[in-house]
Amino acid sequence: MGRKKGKGDGTESPQSIDKYANELQILIDNLDPEDYVEGIGPLVIDWFKDLEVFSSETIKAGLTYGKPLRNALVENHYRTLLPIFEYACSKIRERDSEIYDLKNLVSDAAPALLKAKIWSLERENEALKAKLEIYNDISSTVREITPVLEELKENNIKDLLRAERELVCKDINSTIEKSNLGILEEVKSSSSKSYAQIALQSRGISQNSSIPIRPLPTSSQDPEGVLLIKPKNDRVKDFDTNKKLFMNLISSNNPNARVRGINKLYGGGVKIITGSTDEAGAIKDLILEKGAADLDQNFEFVLPGRRVPQIILYNVDKGVDEESLKKGLLSKNITLADAENKPHFKIDFKIPARDPKCNHWVLSINPKKYSDFIGKGGFYFEFTKLRLSEFISVKQCKVCFGFGHTSKNCDHAENPRCEKCGEAKKEGHKCRTVKCVNCIESNERFRTDFRTNHSCLDRRCRSYQKQKELVIKRTNYGY
Ligand SMILES: [Zn+2]
Ligand SMILES: [Zn+2]
Ligand SMILES: [Zn+2]
Repeated sequence: MGRKKGKGDGTESPQSIDKYANELQILIDNLDPEDYVEGIGPLVIDWFKDLEVFSSETIKAGLTYGKPLRNALVENHYRTLLPIFEYACSKIRERDSEIYDLKNLVSDAAPALLKAKIWSLERENEALKAKLEIYNDISSTVREITPVLEELKENNIKDLLRAERELVCKDINSTIEKSNLGILEEVKSSSSKSYAQIALQSRGISQNSSIPIRPLPTSSQDPEGVLLIKPKNDRVKDFDTNKKLFMNLISSNNPNARVRGINKLYGGGVKIITGSTDEAGAIKDLILEKGAADLDQNFEFVLPGRRVPQIILYNVDKGVDEESLKKGLLSKNITLADAENKPHFKIDFKIPARDPKCNHWVLSINPKKYSDFIGKGGFYFEFTKLRLSEFISVKQCKVCFGFGHTSKNCDHAENPRCEKCGEAKKEGHKCRTVKCVNCIESNERFRTDFRTNHSCLDRRCRSYQKQKELVIKRTNYGY
């Protein structure tokens, strides 16, 4: 290493010092550690300070820049710069990676947020779905249950009817058994009485065991029996004479026979109303057995069958005739016909409705189907359901206002009555009061206490209501 004394030496003259100011020292003095980051500043300053010390010593020693100096600079100074640069670069890399992470963090944040939002929306959706399912469940349950309930209702009605029928049948059976036993006993003990007499007596006894459940819809007790005795010729046309003849026959041979009523028939005929159809038959047998031998030559004895139930179909369009009503009903109501397509109903007649565009129609119903049909409340026809209810017609004469016959068969055809006061309706008639002839007659004959101050055509009339009940009792409801 060659050294040159006096050149670059700090001990040189003030001129030379001025000319060659220590620029390195000035540079170091102007360094601000704050200009650097993360501890790099002191490293840079220390490096320059070391360089300055080395430079100053080199100058003092008068060394010239040559190979040894170059190598010494590399070894002691320039090499130590590299760790500083590496450190700085590592800091940059660190920062970069942080930025990258932050970037990712930021860019990840949006999907995460969206994800969270979707998740909460999905949960909300699930909750709503569950609610909807519950609702659907309920409504479908309701939908499923409704026909089941309908069926249940129908079955219950059927079961109830069956149970009632069975009870009634059981009761009738036991009644018949009791009757038969009674008849046997009576026959054993007495040979002087006729079978009819004994039968009547035993039935009279059995009547005390009343049937507990009444058949639907409104009638009570067992259906009444009717015996019609119609004169065959003019010699026996007087009602009073005929009535006396038959009542005597009955009461002298069987005072216990339960005759509920005797009504006048057209042309002197007699209608005998009894407690049951069996009793009516027994009375017929009794009269024929005990009466005069020519009785059946003068009179016709008729045991009418029970009335077929009727229904009324309300507000059918006037344009619908009998045939189209029948076809329309059969096409929309499968239960209205049997397996061979034979209808369970017969159309009887129509009545004008209050609505001038409509008629009501009256239909006769197969007794076995009556309770089913009335339970439906209506029949389908075209695009509607026609409302229906039971039809009970009471025959009431428009001339005398008596029951059981019409004006065609009225014995008072020449003496019509006033419907309000029941008195003869002569020319210039003026009502003095309001009176019902039927209730007055009932109070006199049957000791009833019906109010009489109403018109003979009043539908609230107790006599009329009683007639209605009698019609129901005569009706076969399929029990
Ligand atoms: Zn009459
Ligand atoms: Zn009058
Ligand atoms: Zn009355």
